[in-house]
Amino acid sequence: MPGELACARKNPRQQIKLISEWWGARNLFCPNCPAEALSLPPNDTEVCDFMCVRCGERFEMKAMNSPIGGVVPDGGYCAMMRAIDEGRTPNLFLLHYERNDWRVTNLLLVPQVAFSTSAIEKCAKLPGRPYALCKILLRNIPPLAKIPVVKEGKALSAGTVRAVYNRIIELRHEPVHERCWTLDVLRIVQSLGEKPFANDKVYAFAHELEKLHPDNRHIKAKIRQQLQVLRDLGFLQHVSSGLWRLP
Ligand SMILES: [Zn+2]
Repeated sequence: MPGELACARKNPRQQIKLISEWWGARNLFCPNCPAEALSLPPNDTEVCDFMCVRCGERFEMKAMNSPIGGVVPDGGYCAMMRAIDEGRTPNLFLLHYERNDWRVTNLLLVPQVAFSTSAIEKCAKLPGRPYALCKILLRNIPPLAKIPVVKEGKALSAGTVRAVYNRIIELRHEPVHERCWTLDVLRIVQSLGEKPFANDKVYAFAHELEKLHPDNRHIKAKIRQQLQVLRDLGFLQHVSSGLWRLP
C-alpha cells in the first residue's frame, strides 16, 4: 500500500482509511460478477467503502494492523440487527496490514448473506453514547463464508474467490430467519471435521443452538430440516438415513 499517503493525515485512523481506499480502488475486484475493479462511492452519503458499478454490490472494509481474530468491533447494534433483518448487510472485507511497511498480509471477504443474528453480539452501552455498539463474532460465521482473498501475503485468483462466493451467495434465496439457522448448522457441520457424520453429532450442539434461537422449541427437528436445506443447496451430501458428508 502507498504508505507515503500517511503524511496527508494526522489521525492514524484517517491515514489507514485513505491508504486502504487507495489500495482497494486499484486492487479489489468484484466477487459477484466479472468486474475487474471496485469503485469508491460517488459521495460520502453512501454507507459503503466500495461498490461495483456493474452489479451494484456494496462492500465495507475494516483495516487492522493485527491478525484478524474471532471478534471484530462494529457500529450500532440496532442498526446492524435491522440491516440483517432487512437483507441490507454489505459484503465485508477484513484487511490485515503491517504498519511498518504498509504491506497487506491478509484479506478476508465475508459475503453479505453470511451475517446472521448469531454472529452479532451487543456491547454494553457506554456512558455518554446514545446507543449500544456491537461486535461481529467471526467465530460464529461458517469457515466457508470467510473467503481468503490475500493469505499470508499471497493473492488468490479472482476465479477461486468468485467460485466460493457464488456458492455461499446461494443462501440469498432463503428468508433471513431461516438463513440464520442454515448458517449456524453449516458452521457446526464444518466444525465436525469428520466425514461422514450422523445426526447425533449435530444434535450434540442443540444446547448452543437453543441459546442462539430461544424462540424455537423443536431443535432436533429444526436441525434435521436444516441438514436437508444444506443438501439441497449443495453444501452437504446425503449418504444414507441420518448420515451425511461434506462434499
Ligand atoms: Zn459486480
